[in-house]
Amino acid sequence: MLNFYPGPSKVYPEVRDYLVMAYDEGILSIPHRSDRFVQMMRDLVGLLRKKLNIPQDYYIFFTSSATECWEIIAQSLTPNKSMHVYNGAFGEKWLEYAKKLRPDSYGQSFELNDAIDAPLLPVEDHTDVICVTQNETSNGTQVNMQTLLKLQNQHKDPLLAIDATSSMAGLNLKFIRADIWFASVQKCFGLPAGMAVMVCSPRTMQRAKALNDKKHYNSLVYFYEKMLNYQTGHTPNVLNLYLMRQVLDRKPLIKQVDQMLVERAQDLYAFFEEFTDVQLLVENPEVRSHTVIALKGPAKLIQEIKRNAATQGIALGNGYGNWAKDTFRIANFPAIVDAEYDELKNFFRKNYQ
Ligand SMILES: *Cc1c(COP(=O)(O)O)cnc(C)c1O
Repeated sequence: MLNFYPGPSKVYPEVRDYLVMAYDEGILSIPHRSDRFVQMMRDLVGLLRKKLNIPQDYYIFFTSSATECWEIIAQSLTPNKSMHVYNGAFGEKWLEYAKKLRPDSYGQSFELNDAIDAPLLPVEDHTDVICVTQNETSNGTQVNMQTLLKLQNQHKDPLLAIDATSSMAGLNLKFIRADIWFASVQKCFGLPAGMAVMVCSPRTMQRAKALNDKKHYNSLVYFYEKMLNYQTGHTPNVLNLYLMRQVLDRKPLIKQVDQMLVERAQDLYAFFEEFTDVQLLVENPEVRSHTVIALKGPAKLIQEIKRNAATQGIALGNGYGNWAKDTFRIANFPAIVDAEYDELKNFFRKNYQ
């Protein structure tokens, strides 16, 4: 079965071998205070910096999911309120989670085909964090690095937090353009679900230390204190840490991965622009995602396409949120190879052109 779900998505096929290696090497039973663990963590953090271009002075932490990162930001970095700028289901969900912990948090939505208008954002006083979903997995839009730069320049005091769950490890993100970045690993990382990476600027850690939230097992200051020695507070997902180290070790530098994905995205957009019954959901090429492509059409046709594709061994991603019925999504992630997209295109050429 070819899997184009945008998460959980296709894992790298090598993961199969790494799973056996992890078992054979005895890594699955090591204590998380042992030298072996610390060495593995040290290697992994170094590889993340090198392969994903994470600046040396940014801190790297591991959590269990992107959702947990939403909570950590609210608990450890938001004494008052956060602002959420969103145009889709994941950005909105983040706002809902933040509101449960910090009821004064507020949202500002924008249209599917629009870029965020940084100068016009109504940022209230005492806003601690501005939250942006860099790649909105639900509708296939993205916020580019230029927009992040504008946000940073216009609104200097609040921290800028970026959900990059469906782009980190795929796109060449400019980490200096924001304070907090996070992503779970079941999307562009091509790994099994159950872990996330959180990247924080020096300024973020100064704030966290000044606020000194210690009420939670996952308080950011605890993460920080433990990671000084390449350790974690609670027993972490050692298997996934191991898999990530193995996968990253053999991966090209992110610049190369980015280039490959952007070219493939352009090819896919050009391909689907030729269709009439199914159309690209996002009309403005400037805000189209490079990693998640959303297509829309009459709900009945969309159902039919998904069903037909499934019988041919092709799993398309369902629509999500408001777009559940009349769209489907195609992941453009690094673990999926070009030959699989050729098959996908053949399927559409044969049946729907
Ligand atoms: C998938 C996704 C999430 C949720 O990730 P979990 O690992 O399930 O918490 C959050 N944000 C975005 C943008 C996503 O694509």
